[in-house]
Order: sequence, then C-alpha cells, then structure tokens
Amino acid sequence: MKRITINEAKHHVGETVEIGAWVANKRSSGKIAFLQLRDGSAYFQGVVVKSEVGDDMFQLAKGLNQETSILVRGVIQEDSRSKFGYEMTVTDVEVVGESQDYPITPKEHGTEFLMDHRHLWLRSSKQHAIMQIRNEIILATYVFFNDNGFIKIDPPILTANAAEDTTELFHTEYFDQDAFLSQSGQLYMEAAAMAFGKVFSFGPTFRAEKSKTRRHLIEFWMIEPEMAFMDQDQSLEVQEQYVAFLVQRVLDNCEHALHVLDRDVDLLKKYTELPFPRISYDDAVVLLKENGFEDIEWGDDFGSPHETFIASSFDKPVFILNYPKAIKPFYMKPHPDRDDVVLCADMIAPEGYGEIIGGSEREVDFDKLQEAIKKFGLAEEDYSWYLDLRKYGTVPHSGFGLGLERAVTWICGTEHIRESIPFPRLLNRIYP
Ligand code: ATP
Ligand code: MG
Ligand code: MG
Ligand code: MG
Repeated sequence: MKRITINEAKHHVGETVEIGAWVANKRSSGKIAFLQLRDGSAYFQGVVVKSEVGDDMFQLAKGLNQETSILVRGVIQEDSRSKFGYEMTVTDVEVVGESQDYPITPKEHGTEFLMDHRHLWLRSSKQHAIMQIRNEIILATYVFFNDNGFIKIDPPILTANAAEDTTELFHTEYFDQDAFLSQSGQLYMEAAAMAFGKVFSFGPTFRAEKSKTRRHLIEFWMIEPEMAFMDQDQSLEVQEQYVAFLVQRVLDNCEHALHVLDRDVDLLKKYTELPFPRISYDDAVVLLKENGFEDIEWGDDFGSPHETFIASSFDKPVFILNYPKAIKPFYMKPHPDRDDVVLCADMIAPEGYGEIIGGSEREVDFDKLQEAIKKFGLAEEDYSWYLDLRKYGTVPHSGFGLGLERAVTWICGTEHIRESIPFPRLLNRIYP
C-alpha cells in the first residue's frame, strides 16, 4: 500500500493509501467517528463508519486519545464541505504510540505554561501555520538573492571582536583567548563583498538584550546582504524589492496558513506595492513633536512608541533616513553635505511591528575610518584586517540586516516575537 502525506491526498482520490499521523482531535457518535489528523504537512479528517469497519476497529478509533500516533489506512475522497477539500474513509487504524493525558490545550493555557511546554505547543495549528510561513520566508530569501546574483557566504559565529555595541555581547572562552558570539556578521560580509561583489549571509545572531520587549530575542536569525559598487539609494531599492518579494511569496504559497492566523490579506497585498515611502530622521522628529511626543529631541534614538507612531502615518513599510552620527556605529559613512548625520536607513514595518531592517553605506576612506575607530574608543589593532579592505581597491559599498523573526512576526500578524522561532531564547528563559 502506498504511504502518502496528507498534503498529497489530492493526487490520490479514490485510491487506498496509508498515512502516518497524530490524532489532533476527535468526535464520535454511536455509528461514526471523525478523527482530526495531523502529519506536519496538513490537517484533514478520517471518517470511521462502524458498519464498515466492524465493532472492534470502531471501538479502537473511538477510544484514541489526543496526540496518539497512528498508521491509518483507507480511501481518499473529495470533501467539498471542508476547506482542505479531501478526507479519508478509514478502513484500518494501527496505533504506533499511545498518548495519555496530553497536557496542553493552547486556547485554555496562559503564556508561561505554553512556553514551558513549547516542545508540545509546536503541535498546535497556529504554531504550524507560523512555522510554514517562516519556512516560506527562508526559501524566498535564497531565491531572491540567488536570482539577483548574490552568493551566500557564512561569517563566523565565534569572533574575537565586537562589530559595535559591546554591552550586548555573549562572552566565551576560545582556548586561552577571549571570544564572543556573533551579534552581526557585517564586518566579515564587507570583506566578502570585496571578494565576491554581491553576497548575503543567513545565520544565528546572539545579543544579551537586557530588557523584555515583544520584539527582542536573545538568539535570532539575521539575513545580511552586502553589495560592492552600491550606494545607499541603490541599497534601499534592493531592500524594498526583497521585502515585497517575501510578502508576495507568502501570499502565493501560504494561503491556508494565513487563513489559520486570520491575517488580513488585503493589508499584506498593499505591502507588495513599490516603492516604500521614505522620511528623513529630521522630519520624523518634527512629526513626533507635532503629535505630542514631547520627550523626543533631535539626537535621540527612537523607541518603539516613536517607531509605531511614525509608521502609522504610512500604509506600507517606511524608511527612516539619515540618523544622527552619534547614535550609529563607527563604520557608517557620513552624509556628504552634512557631517552630523550618516547615510543609513531603518525600515519600519507597519501595524506597530517596529524596525525590521537596519542598513547603511559604509565608510570606505582609510583615514576617515581609522579616525572613526579611534573616536569610538575601539582598539585599532582589532580592526587592522578591516582597515586593510580600504587599502586594496576600496569601493563604495552598502549593506543591511533583516531580522528573520521580526519579518515572520509582522507577516504573520502575531502579537509577540517568541512564537516566530521554534525554541525562543528570552531574558529569563533558556528552557526547553
Ligand atoms: P532594535 O533597535 O529593535 O533593538 P537594532 O537596531 O539593535 O534593533 P540592528 O543591529 O540594526 O538592530 O540589527 C538588524 C536587524 O536585526 C533589526 O532591524 C531587527 O530586524 C533584527 N534584530 C535586532 N535585534 C534583534 C533581537 N534582539 N531579536 C530579534 N531581532 C532583532
Ligand atoms: Mg537593539
Ligand atoms: Mg534600532
Ligand atoms: Mg538597527
């Protein structure tokens, strides 16, 4: 007998097949039992009719507990009443693994309980939908950069020096030396861009974020493209095309998952229309002041209420351009017409999801970069390899970083970033 997955059912209508699945739910009367089955590819229904399978098989089916794993055999039928469109008329059920007193019902339990049972919570239909969308965004990332002539380069995770802010670094030992877990691969990606032109990385990133927010994970995945011979304006075009492509791919390939999440698809469609609006940091400060944000002064970094307000003035993701030099890292190139701001932009997602991309054009002049390293109080010997890139054929180049989980949370329309990664690492939580 042929073994198939639930999402392959449409190709086997009328055939007798076998499926390996878990019992997600069940309801029954005296004559018929409906098994809600989950196998990771999809959910569908198995129908067990007493008069066809006999009393023993019917009692077995009727007695199955939630999360029992089974091999179920039967005939695939079209089922116009369900959204999935197919079901199975069951002829035989074989129990693989029993399940007693399954502890969680996501709708009934609070967040901490669900987080303690994350290993089981992942089985819920909502988590399944989020992970399908995460997977689609990962696939779409590879497709987008491959189609646009980028190659994937993997920067190291164990590093000897910080890319920027040292307060968020995780420290470890590297034999008799100090080492840190990577908080950004950017400096290495610049070296890669000088070697290979257009490159992107996609890997884990670690930051000891000390505050609890719904946007910050301790361990997250970042996509960091870096492009030689590209200025900041050209980089913004790549960024908006990339983000619009991610949204379009999810719309095209994750219809069911979006439905499970009750995501407003018309809003998402809007996010595929280019270009995205741009506002300068200067104008954003004015906008905030005009709207009652008295706490903000030119020179301050924006917090999430500020980002949320600015984004709410637009119906698509918005770029905030040219932040003050003093609040950005040493490697960003100053604006050619004024020295107090840098050629950088953050992309802020709509609907209160905050920053999803940070990017900039890089300083490429040896002397200016050396001076910036000194001014920021960094040890020059740590950056001597990085300065070399400005000695041997330096070129204008730009890059950016997109947080995978920020993008997943926004596109899914979920409340908190913790659900966008299988096993979230948070302040006060490294279990399970
Ligand atoms: P924020 O201002 O929200 O703290 P950031 O400016 O510190 O973010 P960058 O250093 O610019 O972040 O990193 C690039 C991207 O990585 C961000 O735009 C965001 O999408 C993502 N990111 C940064 N920190 C985190 C985190 N702790 N958890 C999840 N994603 C993050
Ligand atoms: Mg931060
Ligand atoms: Mg930021
Ligand atoms: Mg940033």
